Amino acid sequence: MSLSIENVTKKFNQTLALDHINVSIKDSEFIAILGPSGCGKTTLLRTIGGFIQPTSGTIRMDGVVCSDAKTMIPVEQRNLGMVFQSFALWPHMTVRQHVEFPMKSKRQRHISAQEKEKMVDYALKCTGLTALENRLPGELSGGQRQRVALARAIVGKPSVLLMDEPLSALDAELKISMRKEIQDIHKMTGATIVYVTHDQSEAMAMADRIIIMKDGKIEQIGTPKEIYCHPATRFVSTFVSKCNLIKGRWNGDYFQVLNEPIRYHDGEIAPVFHQEGLYPVRPEEIRLVTQGEGIPGVITNKQYNGREIHYSVQYGEDNFTVYTSANEEYEPGQNIKMVIERREAV
Ligand code: ATP
Repeated sequence: MSLSIENVTKKFNQTLALDHINVSIKDSEFIAILGPSGCGKTTLLRTIGGFIQPTSGTIRMDGVVCSDAKTMIPVEQRNLGMVFQSFALWPHMTVRQHVEFPMKSKRQRHISAQEKEKMVDYALKCTGLTALENRLPGELSGGQRQRVALARAIVGKPSVLLMDEPLSALDAELKISMRKEIQDIHKMTGATIVYVTHDQSEAMAMADRIIIMKDGKIEQIGTPKEIYCHPATRFVSTFVSKCNLIKGRWNGDYFQVLNEPIRYHDGEIAPVFHQEGLYPVRPEEIRLVTQGEGIPGVITNKQYNGREIHYSVQYGEDNFTVYTSANEEYEPGQNIKMVIERREAV
């Protein structure tokens, strides 16, 4: 199912939680909404779901108006599945009974008992729960419980799956393996997924496109690679790409570093950086050298990370972050020079 969010605004008293949001989501697309706490992610998701009525603007599903300031198609008529951060399971019900539960609603009346059984079997299979179907929640791990929440959300074959930080309660390792399972579920069901997270690596790993929000507004919409390699705003450059912002002056596609006889050519930097006299450079795009030309700096911190080393480098009043390979060893206090490597073209 396609979704169209047109000029949607939501005001809670004095708070403008959504400020003229426009985005078109294609059928079967996986969209992540990413941004810091309070930027409006959940409000946008809940407005799409029909739990919140927009103050102005329109939401269409497959071209049909389902929410505007006057219209509100009830949630149960929207063919949605939902997975939230906290997954309440009933202690006395088995895995299978949990997944069967949504199929008892009036909306599923027209489906035969045999067909319902098949749908439950399929949801259990998609989430890898077939072998655990007779277990009670107390006999499941955190990841398995979250998979029950996923199975419950997909059993009715929803056209749209809304997920609000579904992995945030899980530990780091489980998060990574559940990402793959959510991707598999996306492939198997073909549902359009709208996925809220404040974890950029989660959004980058799974989504076809990412919506970056700040203060109720969209800062950028793009594929993970577009967002990472070509941040359109200062906020996106630091929030997602973790860019260092080097000060200087742009002259066409040439950047002159402030107070240094160093110039770089780069034709792919967004206009806002030209206007502000900044060159956004990601930590892995800086090479450290001890001799030759480069922006001079002093190593102030070193963190060994297995495959790479993360350095903090002081240059004037700025502190830059630089990632090098694990065999490039420098020590705190050491004077080095920073050389910007050519960035990868999309
Ligand atoms: P988080 O990552 O912390 O969950 P979020 O990006 O999902 O944050 P929202 O929950 O959408 O942010 O909130 C956006 C803004 O709207 C915040 O300033 C919040 O305080 C405000 N807000 C959300 N719901 C309500 C409400 N029911 N009444 C009043 N203000 C609200």
